[in-house]
Amino acid sequence: MAELRWRARQQSQAVPVAAAVLVRVVTRMFAEVVLTKTSSFLDKTYDYSIPATLLPSVKIGIKVEIPFGKRTTQGYVVGLKEESSVPGIKAILRIVDETVLFGPNVVSIARWLADYYHAFFLRALNLFLPPKGKAPITKNQISSNYQPPKFQLTQEQTAALNTIFRAIDENRPEVFLLHGVTGSGKTEVYLRAVEHLLLQGKSAITLEPEIGMTPQLIERFQERFGDNCVVLHSHLTLKERRAAWWRVAAGQGKIVLGTRLALFAPVKNLGLIVIDEEYENSYKSDMSPRYNTRDVAQKFGVPVVLGSATPAVETYYLADMGKYHKLVLSHRIDHRPLPPVTVVDMRRELAQKNFSMLSSELRDSLQETLARGEQAVLFINKRGYYTFVMCRECGKTLECPHCAASLIYSSQAAALACNYCGYSIKQPPLCPNCQSSLLKFFGGGTQKLEDEINKLFPQARILRVDQDSVKQRGSHEAIFHKFSRGEADILLGTQMVTKGLDLPKVTLVGVVAADGALYQPDFRAAERTFQLITQVAGRAGRHHLPGKVIVQSYNPSHYAIIAAAKHDYQQFYQQEIEQRREMIYPPFTNLISIIVEAASKKAGFEFAQDLARGIQGTVLGPIPATIARARGKWRFQILLKGVDPLGLQLPVPPTGINISLDVDPASLA
Ligand SMILES: [Zn+2]
Ligand SMILES: [Zn+2]
Repeated sequence: MAELRWRARQQSQAVPVAAAVLVRVVTRMFAEVVLTKTSSFLDKTYDYSIPATLLPSVKIGIKVEIPFGKRTTQGYVVGLKEESSVPGIKAILRIVDETVLFGPNVVSIARWLADYYHAFFLRALNLFLPPKGKAPITKNQISSNYQPPKFQLTQEQTAALNTIFRAIDENRPEVFLLHGVTGSGKTEVYLRAVEHLLLQGKSAITLEPEIGMTPQLIERFQERFGDNCVVLHSHLTLKERRAAWWRVAAGQGKIVLGTRLALFAPVKNLGLIVIDEEYENSYKSDMSPRYNTRDVAQKFGVPVVLGSATPAVETYYLADMGKYHKLVLSHRIDHRPLPPVTVVDMRRELAQKNFSMLSSELRDSLQETLARGEQAVLFINKRGYYTFVMCRECGKTLECPHCAASLIYSSQAAALACNYCGYSIKQPPLCPNCQSSLLKFFGGGTQKLEDEINKLFPQARILRVDQDSVKQRGSHEAIFHKFSRGEADILLGTQMVTKGLDLPKVTLVGVVAADGALYQPDFRAAERTFQLITQVAGRAGRHHLPGKVIVQSYNPSHYAIIAAAKHDYQQFYQQEIEQRREMIYPPFTNLISIIVEAASKKAGFEFAQDLARGIQGTVLGPIPATIARARGKWRFQILLKGVDPLGLQLPVPPTGINISLDVDPASLA
């Protein structure tokens, strides 16, 4: 939803006043209150006086009832002060609930979130508030402590841990980049750091990009910390989330493990934040406030560990500049080798009349893996069966009528569907444009790959994991468990298969289409490609059986693919950072993306043009957005380079036009 805030900075009563008179009554106290519901477009806090009888009980973080205009309403106390410039100030009526839901530190982080990401303050504050509904009674659970299984740490793990321990002991809000190759034992470093923290009576928050991708990691945390570990993520039911929130608030769960929303859990005595696979897009919120978890975490004033085999280029740059403290795990555990990677040129396969999705090399390797009774993981970044349908008569691609996006064919539903708005139609027998019957299906997704492998290896047991197959809650974990119990031979899917899996029998990894991400109109396209290949390649040969990786590409000489095939982050980074410097992209500047949406193409474009003209600095556009039309609305994009989001002011759009603003966008597509 597009949102624009009125940047009314001064606090005021609901009724505007002509002259401000400073009320200076030292014995009185005033409360700054934000309404629990904002019905208008006003993003404000309001001052109220505190009656003497309530004075001892009014604290930051409680809910109060207040007069507002002609009615009464409720709000949260977000500040206390001795002076207020509001004349004829009204008084708080009563305390609704004495439970302190947040403290001053939360208020200041929420204010920063609202200001930096251009969101309503209440929305930012809401991130920290308990899930809706009555607080459950939290029973005192006694933590069951299993002796934790001890692994022999590598020298690199020990060195990294000693550095992190020092920051924990001194409560120094330092940021660490734990750059460890796949299989180097980053998780064990997280576990020991958290263990160290617990001994001091402190709490920790450990974040994962998507909880469904990392069932093994949750198991390891629960095994080590028992009831002290609280899992918090968006796949839980509201009731489960509420229970988890209040358990943490009661100080019962000292270790919070979850997705980005877990960062805002009400932990007591926080001492460490760990962000695993920090480069992941899911750490950027897609709803207002559109925050980046990595950046918000650094506002909590505690040590932060950012871990990855493939750090974001921006993160690595800051570590290189000495702003973050770099810790390196350059070897796999027990010095197991990283798997050799073969890049197959798919143009050559075409020249040899192989039109299958599998090169002969990948097909043969699959055959051998299956014959040895081992397991394979195949990655393809498109779901569905065919990824687009084109008419050979008129050349038109079948598109969604509401969005500028091609329809994707799903064989299960025998239907064409839009990924953006959910529109779907039965497969038409004729071209809707010219009535020709020469409709041709192109491109391959997960379903087509599954079909091909079924035909090639009828005995193989295949598990497909993509958005379509994991729609039901919990089925993602179920698929992974099935695979880890050895009840399937091949796991194939979208990026859900690229991380978290650590299985001894996985010896073959195939990247069926490595180029998909390369052609995105986004300056991070090469980075994404490198990350995807490196992560999925890292699933192979993590234990005693040697692994092997095959990467299929139509663009095998691209630097991202060459560097990924050599497991060489440095080589990739050096080329990438030079390109960013030359093109002036992050980390050498910051970006703000503005999307203007309107039902009328002309009105939308004209408004976007006026908007762009009114902004000081480097302004690119307006241009039609990558998805030029979505859900029936025309979309225009304006890109700002090097503009400070804290100083940016935008006009209020007329009715029928929406503006949405994305500070530090994760993707421009
Ligand atoms: Zn046609
Ligand atoms: Zn659509």
